[in-house]
Amino acid sequence: MHVLICGGGAIGMSIAYFLSRRGVAVTVIESTGIACAASGKSGGFLARDWCDGQPVQELARRSFDLHAELAATIDDDWDYRRLDAYGGFAGFGRQRGTHELDWMAAEVAVTQALGSPSTTAQVHPGAFTAAMMRAAARHGATLRLGRVTGIAVENGRATAIEIDGERLAGDAVVVAMGPWSILACRWLPLPPVFGLKGHSLVFDTAAAVPAEAAFLEYREPGSGAVLTPELFPRPDGTIYVCGISGEEALPLDPACVKPDNGALYRLEAMCRAISPVLAAAPIIARQACYRPIARDGLPLIGPAPGVAGAYIATGHSVWGILNAPATGEAMAELILDGAARTVDLAPFDPARLPALDAAQLRAG
Ligand SMILES: Cc1cc2nc3c(=O)[nH]c(=O)nc-3n(C[C@H](O)[C@H](O)[C@H](O)COP(=O)(O)OP(=O)(O)OC[C@H]3O[C@@H](n4cnc5c(N)ncnc54)[C@H](O)[C@@H]3O)c2cc1C
Repeated sequence: MHVLICGGGAIGMSIAYFLSRRGVAVTVIESTGIACAASGKSGGFLARDWCDGQPVQELARRSFDLHAELAATIDDDWDYRRLDAYGGFAGFGRQRGTHELDWMAAEVAVTQALGSPSTTAQVHPGAFTAAMMRAAARHGATLRLGRVTGIAVENGRATAIEIDGERLAGDAVVVAMGPWSILACRWLPLPPVFGLKGHSLVFDTAAAVPAEAAFLEYREPGSGAVLTPELFPRPDGTIYVCGISGEEALPLDPACVKPDNGALYRLEAMCRAISPVLAAAPIIARQACYRPIARDGLPLIGPAPGVAGAYIATGHSVWGILNAPATGEAMAELILDGAARTVDLAPFDPARLPALDAAQLRAG
């Protein structure tokens, strides 16, 4: 069996790993570069129980455990570690905090412990994604650089994909192109996926800051707007911060995603205000990316309705790094055994949403 996976983000690479581990031939087709999009530019924060009570609870819990298992068993390094997580406020006047984070300004009131090493963790998302591909490659998977420009369906079955117009045959095709999965609505009866833009900065703090993630509400002086930054110190001596979204539409080419300078300026000013460590640190990345989201906010994981051998795995929104391993594992079971065993995929069945009319897509 030969499975073709369209898209080399955290989701595509995790599926490649779990399939190849079971002895299946896998080719990942990536247009731009491994983890070039959200999978390389996201926070990489993982939480065991923050999705409890939601349809993704089971997926998230399974995936949190799988992250630990993968880090312990694969001979590679993607900066996996457990950490504490705190919540607090800044810019609302002097408030008393209940916890002290040495790297935060005195004006920041840290009022809540949100997670501990038993419930929260992190990875470097780009390093994780690349490591999944390397691990898959050790089981025989291959990566092919090229743009997927079509999926061939013959007699109700997906038989091949087109890469820049050239045909590559396979027994199953998985669409895992993040927000660009909407392009596959031209080729398969799939519901649309949208891209929501987020900006982030990476600071080089030279020495490692303690393993303390922070989720703040920050009232911006002047505008009075309330921002919700997320700050993740990493083991490599950097701090990743995200917190300002953007309205710009998804560009067709992943290489054309550009940050908005106004958003980055606001993010930087906020960072310098809330932490003396960030105020003194050079910025080594100024970036933007799009998280994939379906119409009802739940992932799309399952078969393309009515087309044998065609599948989709995307729409993981703010939890795509967390949920990548369990998605990969469940997709491997679905493709090879006919049903997922480790996680119930019913809430994520693509058939729950109407397919996008291809004529609508062509119209714009
Ligand atoms: C600011 C921000 C912070 C986030 N923080 C976290 C976090 O802390 N924890 C967490 O769990 N999640 C987080 N997320 C969400 C997470 O990053 C995403 O859900 C996840 O990366 C999506 O992965 P993906 O593989 O589905 O898509 P992507 O990473 O977008 O990958 C899709 C890939 O498909 C490729 N592609 C596109 N078109 C084609 C084509 N035609 N042919 C071939 N390849 C193609 C692209 O180049 C890209 O590499 C965050 C998201 C954002 C925006």
